[in-house]
Amino acid sequence: MEMVDRLVEKFKEFTRAKGMKVTPQRVAIYRELVSRCDHPSAEDIYEALRSKFAGISLATVYRTLTNLEKVDLATKVATVNGIARFDGNVKPHSHFICNKCGRVIDIDCKVKIDIEKLKEMNLSAEKCELTCYGICDKCQH
Ligand SMILES: [Zn+2]
Ligand SMILES: [Zn+2]
Repeated sequence: MEMVDRLVEKFKEFTRAKGMKVTPQRVAIYRELVSRCDHPSAEDIYEALRSKFAGISLATVYRTLTNLEKVDLATKVATVNGIARFDGNVKPHSHFICNKCGRVIDIDCKVKIDIEKLKEMNLSAEKCELTCYGICDKCQH
């Protein structure tokens, strides 16, 4: 949990530096996101928080997550069913997405995109990510 506390502190500093309000709801949404590794959707986070925050709405959660993505404190993960899933881990990493249950699992990946090759093609890369699609361990049984 210590790691999560440190991330939340950084988030508060960053939010203040941007001149934005550090509201208990925003902090809770961010904390929830970085505490889990299941790449939750806005609905998942809303479900987890709505008993604690009477006034919270799905729209607020979605807007907060989208804003976190804009300032690089979260990333959006590609999914099979088109529902946006969010990742609080912003370090470059790859994902395995299960075609059956939709689980998004962090994976180690040795394959790298050759940025130099892209430069030769005059393509300026901003973000590279690799996603594997298949059937997860649980769904194989
Ligand atoms: Zn599965
Ligand atoms: Zn991830």
